[in-house]
Amino acid sequence: MRTVSSLIFAGLTAVAPVGDGFTQDLTNAQREAAIEFTLNNSRHVLLHEIGHLFVDQLKLPVLGREEDAVDTMATLVILNEQPEAAHQILVDTVDGWLYSEKTRPVRGYTNADFYGMHSLDIQRSFAIACLMVGSDYETYSTYATRIGMPIDRQKSCEEDHEVAEFGWQQVLAPHTRKDVFGANVAVEYRSDERTYRDIAAILRESGVLEEAADWVTKNYVLPRPVRITAEVCGEANAFYVPDERRVILCYEWADSFYSMFVEEIMPIREHFAMMKDLKLEKLSALGGR
Ligand SMILES: [Zn+2]
Repeated sequence: MRTVSSLIFAGLTAVAPVGDGFTQDLTNAQREAAIEFTLNNSRHVLLHEIGHLFVDQLKLPVLGREEDAVDTMATLVILNEQPEAAHQILVDTVDGWLYSEKTRPVRGYTNADFYGMHSLDIQRSFAIACLMVGSDYETYSTYATRIGMPIDRQKSCEEDHEVAEFGWQQVLAPHTRKDVFGANVAVEYRSDERTYRDIAAILRESGVLEEAADWVTKNYVLPRPVRITAEVCGEANAFYVPDERRVILCYEWADSFYSMFVEEIMPIREHFAMMKDLKLEKLSALGGR
């Protein structure tokens, strides 16, 4: 609830220890993959927070839970605006939430989890996958099957996608930019302190904040200036602060995703890639007989 807390946060359940990812020796390819994973998750979370900003600044009606709605908006924007890159951006985002779920303490769920304003991490990740396969069954069905989505559900996701697309188009249509530019969207990379120098440099060089700001100004008219900032927050999270009309991406959040990739996801992906190569070798050996 926005009135209870002035902060609307991304709601990450658990994150890898801060900073550990940068202490590991990586090949150039591994480092590139870790950076791409971090940026892809940053793209989705920035759009999620921009969704909160839209709801607040454009006075959008929200039917259902706002946290689910803005996750949906972020996913639809990526599917529609970046068709070439959407597959990898969203696979990385799904993996991010899946891993976050896996690191849940052994105590399992508590009432607080079920009462939370966010859906459970695993539901957030499956909801993104549902919109993917709902938008294009041919392209995404193999992936949805690999992460365990039943075929029946994959097919019914088409309706989820249609309803979501229609809803967001309807509420945003009156605010679409035609001739006039709306209020400015300022971007700022704030002091990174020493601890987060590496991740701050990665974010700054990628221009991921500018990318989000440009998408807003090119497409929509905001009534008042807003800001998107990257900074040290004291926790691994992302926020929209209504009082300040500001989206915040915390360096700690990006840093935790970099570490999550290096320590948990990269070994699994490398293992699967190796198994796939072995299988292909075996098949070609059999074919050669
Ligand atoms: Zn949120």
